[in-house]
Formats: sequence, C-alpha cells, structure tokens
Amino acid sequence: MTTYSKEDLRDMFEGRLPWEKTKEIMSHPKDDDRFDKYIQILQERVSWPEKILMPLGDHLNVVQKGSDRIVKCDCGYEFGDWRVNWKLNALIFVRDDMAKMEEVYPGLKAPDPNLCEVREFYCPACGVMLKVENVPVGYPIIFDVLPDIDGFYREWLGRPLPDEKEFKDMTYEVTASWAKERV
Ligand SMILES: [Zn+2]
Repeated sequence: MTTYSKEDLRDMFEGRLPWEKTKEIMSHPKDDDRFDKYIQILQERVSWPEKILMPLGDHLNVVQKGSDRIVKCDCGYEFGDWRVNWKLNALIFVRDDMAKMEEVYPGLKAPDPNLCEVREFYCPACGVMLKVENVPVGYPIIFDVLPDIDGFYREWLGRPLPDEKEFKDMTYEVTASWAKERV
C-alpha cells in the first residue's frame, strides 16, 4: 500500500500535486490515516478551536460547533449550517457588463455580458475570494458541494459522528423565509 507523508499531503493542499494523485490520496480514506493527516494540516492553519470535519474548498471548512455543523472561513467567519448554501451569506460581486468583464479578462475574449455573468464570492470578514462562478444571466446561485458528512464518517471512515443530522439541502428554507419577510 502506498503511504503518504504529511509533507505529501501538505504539497497536495498547497496545490503542488497533480489532480490525479490528489484524487488517489483522497479516494481511500479508510486505508490509512491520510484523511486524518489532511484534516490535521488544515487544523494547524487556523487559529480557532472548532474541530474541522471536512474541507469544502479554499479557505472554507465544515466544522463541529457545539451540536451544530457549520461552514467556517480560515479567518473565523461563520457562514452557518453546512446544509444551507454558504454563498447566501457571502459578499457577492457580479460582473455583468463589458467594463467589469474586461477588468478580469484583459485582452482576452471576455464572456458576453448579455448571455452570462461572472459572480465572485468573498468572505464578509477577511475579504478573501472564495469562489467564482460563470453562469447564464439570472441563473440561480450554484450550491457547489453539499457533503454527506455523516455518511462519509460512517461508511468510509467507519467511525460515525455522534449526533447524526438529517442530510438535506436547506437552502430553500432560508430563501423562502426571506420571501416571507418581504411580504
Ligand atoms: Zn474569512
């Protein structure tokens, strides 16, 4: 069996390993402790105490906070329950005209702002860019990843988390409550 050092995993995290190897490292979490090492690296990078359950992407992790599982930025900003799209609580900058497109596509063929828009999502606390999506105009905000955390810990790692949560997308409950407030 291949084993991976903490340095391998750190390189992976810093983006120096090609995607194929990264996938291999992450695809058999039960085989050894590579998932735990990876989480340990992530945990060492942050200054807050909540335990990281799963990485969501650059700067974002799902963490255990009391009995809740929330999305948290490296800086400590909390986006709320992981079953609600964190983007709803992010700062959003939309590039929807040619001038704004050309700021990020200088000298290149920019997307046609009549057809699509580029949305940039930023952390409201530290201002780091968390995600960019390029979508047709008016397309709903994309919920990129809703990991089945309980399933992953139970089925893949073989150590279920206490306090299992119902696994469902709760984003629409939030947007529906916004609609109600507006009435
Ligand atoms: Zn932040």
